[in-house]
Amino acid sequence: SNIVAIVGRPNVGKSTLFNRLLERREAIVDSEAGVTRDRHYGKSDWNGVDFTVIDTGGYDIGTEDVFEIEIRKQVALAVEEATSIIFMVNVDEGLVETDEEIFHLLRKSNKPIYLVINKVDTNKEELAATEFYQLGVDSYFTLSSASGSGTGELLDQVVKDFPTTEYKDPFEGLPKITIAGRPNVGKSTMTNALLDDERNIVTDIAGTTRDSIQTLYNKFGHEFVLVDTAGMRRKAKVKEDLEFYSVMRAIRSIEYSDVVIIMVDATQGWESQDMNIFGLAQKNRKGIVILINKWDLVEDKTTNMMRDFEEKIKDRIGQFTDIPILFVSALTKQRILKAVEVAMEVYEDRKKRIKTSKLNEVMLPIFERTPPPANKGKYIKIKYCVQLPTPSPQFVFFCNLPQYVKEAYKRFTENQLRKEFGFTGVPIEIYFRQK
Ligand code: GDP
Repeated sequence: SNIVAIVGRPNVGKSTLFNRLLERREAIVDSEAGVTRDRHYGKSDWNGVDFTVIDTGGYDIGTEDVFEIEIRKQVALAVEEATSIIFMVNVDEGLVETDEEIFHLLRKSNKPIYLVINKVDTNKEELAATEFYQLGVDSYFTLSSASGSGTGELLDQVVKDFPTTEYKDPFEGLPKITIAGRPNVGKSTMTNALLDDERNIVTDIAGTTRDSIQTLYNKFGHEFVLVDTAGMRRKAKVKEDLEFYSVMRAIRSIEYSDVVIIMVDATQGWESQDMNIFGLAQKNRKGIVILINKWDLVEDKTTNMMRDFEEKIKDRIGQFTDIPILFVSALTKQRILKAVEVAMEVYEDRKKRIKTSKLNEVMLPIFERTPPPANKGKYIKIKYCVQLPTPSPQFVFFCNLPQYVKEAYKRFTENQLRKEFGFTGVPIEIYFRQK
């Protein structure tokens, strides 16, 4: 089977990634047979493809010499055994000489090497990561240890490149939607409502992502894949696994999806677990739609009541509030067509690329009219902007003094982008960079 080796200097975060890849299976084994987690290889899977992971860093470093020897051992092991090599570095320490040495050795093999930059939690660190281009790579992956994001993109690529499997995402290029939410909010009812009566469901493929059911829908003139998290809970064998399973499932489904529908029970309101799901979707830069379900149970369906509900949620979710909120009933099917339509709009907006000429034509006059406040008598001039070719919208604004651009002005810029180009439900990243 395919073997993925994780190589890198000590303390860059290899074992964190390793544990994350193994977590679910290990936990299951643990609870059934009391197996300890103290090992350096294990089985994992992604998108239905099984593979073995080796953490090459399971040793202690003493002297410089041992360090040398150990790294050579790691590399030799990786080069010999592995199908793919994840070369991990750490943005905190930047590019150090040992990184270059390891990378140089790895490059002599013909194995695919994935440069993975760990601990990239902030925009600042995202920019700092560009330093690793000095290694001569065309691209790299960044992981956030704080949010755990980035693993999905990395694994998508690693698995896609496996030489011996003929794996291909049967749904490649189609919108992937997850309905997430606390137990009993109505996720299954919604899924069934979409399945119901009409005969136009196309495919139902189990196990595309292990233990999940993905259904290709062709409904209301839209083709999309519903990644089913609801079905998962029933598969948990051991009671203690239930919570763990559903959290893990939600994470994986969110990573695999383009749009996350967060479903809330109208009779209960927005709670901390909803906040967690929201945070997860936002950190993974996925499109977001909020559905207030069981609207049929609400007696007092006034506009005021709806506005109240909306405001309460928007108060809680913080700054990114440009999110569609719909009041639906999965049971009576009220507005579920609308919910699908809105999710598809969010999907399209997330993919949207604004032409550079158009972006500059629209944004530069706005910056002229409302420039960033001067700092210590120095004027900040924004000269040029581009949208990066990323799966979700990210914009870079080139200016003379990026260090003086304050958070408030970034928010202003984001709001202008939303106003001019319409990214409702889509997280946007904004960078100010030296021209
Ligand atoms: P899940 O755990 O999120 O999948 O929730 P289910 O779909 O199993 O729904 C939990 C319960 O809520 C079931 O008894 C459903 O019949 C009920 N339910 C779901 N959606 C609605 C709705 O829109 N209105 C009403 N009145 N009940 C609903």
